[in-house]
Amino acid sequence: MPPTPPLTILLVGNGGREHALAWKLSQSPHVTQIYAVPGNGGTSLLPKTVNISTVKPDDFAGLVAFSQQHSVNFLVPGPEAPLVDGIVDFFAEKLPELKVFGPSRKAAVMEGSKTFAKDFMKRHAIPTADYQNFFAYEPATKYLDSVAHDVVIKADGLAAGKGVIIPRSKEEAHAALKSIMLDKEFGKAGNDVVIEEYLDGQELSILSFCDGEAVKSLPPSQDHKRIFDGDHGPNTGGMGTYAPTDIVTKELQEEIERTILEPTIKGMKQEGFPFIGTLFTGLMLTQSGPKVLEYNVRFGDPETQSVLALLESDLAEIMYNCTCSALKDVDLQISPKYATTVVVAAGGYPGPYSKGTEIRLDATESDTYLFHAGTVNVDGKLITSGGRVIASTATGNTLKEAVDKSYKGVEVIHFEGMQFRRDIATRALK
Ligand code: AMP
Repeated sequence: MPPTPPLTILLVGNGGREHALAWKLSQSPHVTQIYAVPGNGGTSLLPKTVNISTVKPDDFAGLVAFSQQHSVNFLVPGPEAPLVDGIVDFFAEKLPELKVFGPSRKAAVMEGSKTFAKDFMKRHAIPTADYQNFFAYEPATKYLDSVAHDVVIKADGLAAGKGVIIPRSKEEAHAALKSIMLDKEFGKAGNDVVIEEYLDGQELSILSFCDGEAVKSLPPSQDHKRIFDGDHGPNTGGMGTYAPTDIVTKELQEEIERTILEPTIKGMKQEGFPFIGTLFTGLMLTQSGPKVLEYNVRFGDPETQSVLALLESDLAEIMYNCTCSALKDVDLQISPKYATTVVVAAGGYPGPYSKGTEIRLDATESDTYLFHAGTVNVDGKLITSGGRVIASTATGNTLKEAVDKSYKGVEVIHFEGMQFRRDIATRALK
């Protein structure tokens, strides 16, 4: 395993995921400095970390110039947009000596195009829902008329997590298809669509480190997508997670690795776009085994907050080794505890919500972390700046203990209109 050099890191993004990444990276003795572009109120409070507002996260040339001026030698893009837009390729061309923890534009297509990802799974016999891709409206609507089973309709491109529609009737399916393909609800992301079989089962996600060849996973987690308790109300970016989820036995984990994760990484290498970075695999556990719902090409939010709280190894060392094809030598140490994350959102989210509300935070207990998402630090005052505002993450020897500690963490957060789910992980506690 090559020794990890002192790292000056450029971290792109401003969500809870990026706060959790910066929190974990800042603990590494290998890390000398983290520049968060733009970062948030949470990253502004971390040791070794500075928020940068003089360059925009989508200005790749500006990021390269900043990296040269500040001797950055390691890039960690957080969200999918810069990856799909080719930030990794841009840096490889302009600053080839700088290491990047993230997939190339070609590899990022696994998230950037759902039609591509489905065809990839078919080529490599990776279990997923039956589907058809459509590149024009007429054949898609004819197909909808012809199928007897329930379907899910997915816009091909990035649609800020909103491009997947689960219709409750044929009429709703036709309406969704029309709004995606003809009315362009999601712009050009809806030029093409996947229509796939609806899968019943429990959903989970696995985050895996990849170096192009080897793949090593963090504990499986489960998210809560809907805004209200009992899985009611509209979908959100994610209102809370817990990890590990006990529905994944050792045998099932091995099956997922053998039939899904390893063939995915092998297939990508074979096809000429090896995956370096974190692969997020969304899975449905169906009667006929685990099936892939989606790939994301980066850490998930708020899964990252829970799983990084369980990672005992040095994150900077793992990431560095992924960029040197040396992941197989890394010993991934995972805590035997449970971790839970409860997201506190602004009133009105995921609909319209106000920003600029002052936040007061009391002291938290140890083993409880407040990961900021939609916050900014203005002259020492924290104010809200997004829908999902802060998450409380805690670890415990049992899931119940972790949940109780997370909710204790929520009690120290105060701002007008705050809302959060009160049933995070209760389905697992039953
Ligand atoms: P995706 O972005 O493809 O993961 O889809 C977003 C969400 O839609 C998933 O997290 C699932 O809850 C749901 N979903 C996607 N595909 C299916 C499917 N084939 N059957 C049932 N639910 C699905």
